[in-house]
Amino acid sequence: MKSIFEKYGISRQEVLEWGMKHYPQFTNENILAQLYLRHVKKVNLDPNDVALMTGKEVDVEDLQPGEWCIIQVVVGAKVRSNSYRGCPECYKRVDDNNMCPKCGLVTPVDLFWDTYVAGDNTGDVMVSFPPRIANEYRNLEGTILKIRGFLNDQGEFIAQNIEVVKEPPKSLEEKKEQTVVEKEVEALRNVLLNFPEVSYEDLKTWHRQRGFTTDLDLLIMKVGAVKDENGKVRLT
Ligand SMILES: [Zn+2]
Repeated sequence: MKSIFEKYGISRQEVLEWGMKHYPQFTNENILAQLYLRHVKKVNLDPNDVALMTGKEVDVEDLQPGEWCIIQVVVGAKVRSNSYRGCPECYKRVDDNNMCPKCGLVTPVDLFWDTYVAGDNTGDVMVSFPPRIANEYRNLEGTILKIRGFLNDQGEFIAQNIEVVKEPPKSLEEKKEQTVVEKEVEALRNVLLNFPEVSYEDLKTWHRQRGFTTDLDLLIMKVGAVKDENGKVRLT
């Protein structure tokens, strides 16, 4: 998620100037930016953006269970990833007939709850990202984030909104790319081990439903499989 300034294409400078004129006794950039957007730019703000900007910034060592706050951390390794089949619109779990309790019949997708260790200069903490965030950001390792959320009773910080402060260095980016390809190759290998003669068309559907980003033909090549004249794909 971008900062409120970036997202709505306004500068900090114009907000502060407007604020000086109308609210000279306040310098709270977040509230001023919200008011400026709503009253000058006539923008209907996304409630998530408003929530993101609201809260106290807290050091990790000072986190208290149940208190909503904002932490700024660098994300370390992913320690857990739980997935389930759910609704692509509202992220609720679907039943065996692909029925979402809220949206009705849907085409379910794999949804993730990802947990990473993350920290600032005062300490580190496990941070869990719900599917709304984890499915958009499959790999946050090395990223500096502002996270709004709260510490639960198990001592895990539950993220509600995030703002990317800084992307990971290039060397990590490259590794990340490689990891995505590797994961998708691995998934294809598992399919081919379970279904030794799967049709290319079925694989295309599977590939699309998983939201894989690596080209299917490239995956087939990398896994060491071939497509025969009948359109069946098999490991060699
Ligand atoms: Zn739904």
